[in-house]
Amino acid sequence: MSRPSRARIDLAALRHNYLAARRLHGGRAVAVLKANAYGHGAVVCARALESISDAFGVAFVAEAQELCEAGIRTPILVLEGAFTPTELERAHQLGLWLVVHHEEQLRMIERAPTNCTRLNVWLKIDSGMRRAGVPLAQAKNFHARLLTTGRVASITLMSHLARADEPRAEATRMQIEEFDAATAGLPGPRSLANSAAILAWPSASRDWARPGIVLYSVDPTGESQLDWRAVMTLISEVFAERLLAPGEAMGYGGSFVAEQATRVGLVALGYGDGYPARASTGTPVAVDDRRTRVIGRVSMDMLAVDLSELPEAGVGSRVELWGANVRVAEVAAHAGLLTYEILCNVKRVPFDYIEAANSATETGDRRART
Ligand SMILES: *Cc1c(COP(=O)(O)O)cnc(C)c1O
Repeated sequence: MSRPSRARIDLAALRHNYLAARRLHGGRAVAVLKANAYGHGAVVCARALESISDAFGVAFVAEAQELCEAGIRTPILVLEGAFTPTELERAHQLGLWLVVHHEEQLRMIERAPTNCTRLNVWLKIDSGMRRAGVPLAQAKNFHARLLTTGRVASITLMSHLARADEPRAEATRMQIEEFDAATAGLPGPRSLANSAAILAWPSASRDWARPGIVLYSVDPTGESQLDWRAVMTLISEVFAERLLAPGEAMGYGGSFVAEQATRVGLVALGYGDGYPARASTGTPVAVDDRRTRVIGRVSMDMLAVDLSELPEAGVGSRVELWGANVRVAEVAAHAGLLTYEILCNVKRVPFDYIEAANSATETGDRRART
């Protein structure tokens, strides 16, 4: 039998979460599929969302091109915009929507070949993130210069919120106000809300939302009452059992020492598969749908779970590292990592794409499936 570790991706849950996020925000929504759809497989996720999504968001032109080559016809917004004039031309050929967030990108458009005439630009204004983005005071100037190029078919005004996951942060209220003031009087649709703002900041609702992490069922505010359905379930099985006597140490560094007789299940999944090495003793895990804990240090190919309280469980028991029973956010909290980082890191395990919890399983490579 082959190694029983897999990532199961529920595409019906992905669609459910997209529709719930868009409904909550109102208007239209860019489904953010950057970084290979936060580790879930961009092409398959795009196909699953294609018939309902208003647009897709990726980080750079090559990510968009991958979707175009797979036959995706939904508009694609490139969140970092073009890096070179060649990329700008390719983006124009592919009909991509491009973020412009610094002077050099504007200059590229000004100097673009004369046949580049139908660019859809999202002008990103820095309302407080202080990372990429056009300074507030230059928003109107950039807007005017874009129009002057004669190469622009539409301009959407956008900004990114730095602290929207803190439902009471004054900084977010300030960012919204500053954005509104800097863009007052300019025509065109607007977009402010990432996942956290969709959940916590109704005052950030504009024409377009840009949900990312919430599509994959993570609520970055930790306060949402909505039913965000688990999209990725990382699963394996117990392949062997061990009994530790009181005082015995287990694993690298002997970091786990049994206080009492402890029944241990070995699971064929480790940090080589993207399970965080820092999620050591105490991190929740579900065995046959019952919660228990990881014990000892996570190894590259293997980790151990505590079966002492689960007498029915043993070799062959199903292990869920995260999914419906254990939230990715809980694992992230134990590991001191971002949920984003954990999801992006899943690798080596085969990906199974399913339409609903009980439907037939379809197996495939998450990049190459066509
Ligand atoms: C990644 C990204 C998003 C999505 O953010 P989430 O926190 O995952 O919802 C939205 N807007 C921009 C500009 C981004 O880069």
